[in-house]
Amino acid sequence: MNAMLSEARAKVGHRLAMHLRVDLFRLRNSTPMVSFTFDDLPKSAVTTGAAMLEAHGARGTFYVSGSLVGADAPDWVAGNADDVVSLHRRGHEIGCHTFSHQRACDLDEAGMRQEIARNRAYLRALDPSIRVDSFAYPFGYGSYARKYQLRKAFQTCRSIVQGVNSGGVDLQFLRAMPLIDREMDRDGIERAFDEAQSNNGWLIFYGHDVTERPSPYGCSPALLEHALRAASRRNISALTMAEAMRCASA
Ligand SMILES: [Zn+2]
Repeated sequence: MNAMLSEARAKVGHRLAMHLRVDLFRLRNSTPMVSFTFDDLPKSAVTTGAAMLEAHGARGTFYVSGSLVGADAPDWVAGNADDVVSLHRRGHEIGCHTFSHQRACDLDEAGMRQEIARNRAYLRALDPSIRVDSFAYPFGYGSYARKYQLRKAFQTCRSIVQGVNSGGVDLQFLRAMPLIDREMDRDGIERAFDEAQSNNGWLIFYGHDVTERPSPYGCSPALLEHALRAASRRNISALTMAEAMRCASA
């Protein structure tokens, strides 16, 4: 298939994934919730990001692609296998982001099955007690064709389409807000928390590196600190994706 046609198909699959839900799930959390999620395991998300969460008594969800562990990227130094194990043992959640960091829309059913199995095997080899209940779409690209399959494999799939989840939601396409300096400021963070409070919602932040000079996909410690303080000030529990799902299913 030529590249343009393949891109067009990817876009259609993504749009369908955004608009057509497999199931309607009603969130039953008794209070608003926030989750802090980090993709691709930059080293600074482990050192600075996770440590900041812990200082607030919070834990995050780290979506790991096995192939990216220990592989420095143009935008950051990568975390390594010991970092994955350390995060897990400190109470953070390790989520799946495919093994090869591939867009869901580029994978057929067998391809997705292999990506999930390979990533699970990789993580369990690091520590057999790592449970993998949560998934995030690499590059934020959903795929309508893969949603049924992902529903069987994971409790939740996180997108990067903006919004605060509340009421009836699509667990295979949860909305999230960027915790990314280029895309979000302090007022935006407050507005997102306002919305979570008005609608008893589930606010999910996503980001990558956490450093003074963040990549175009990452945030400064100051922005993360602002979000963590906003959560404390508003008495909103910061929960991993799996913990939030337990509250939402109660
Ligand atoms: Zn990613």
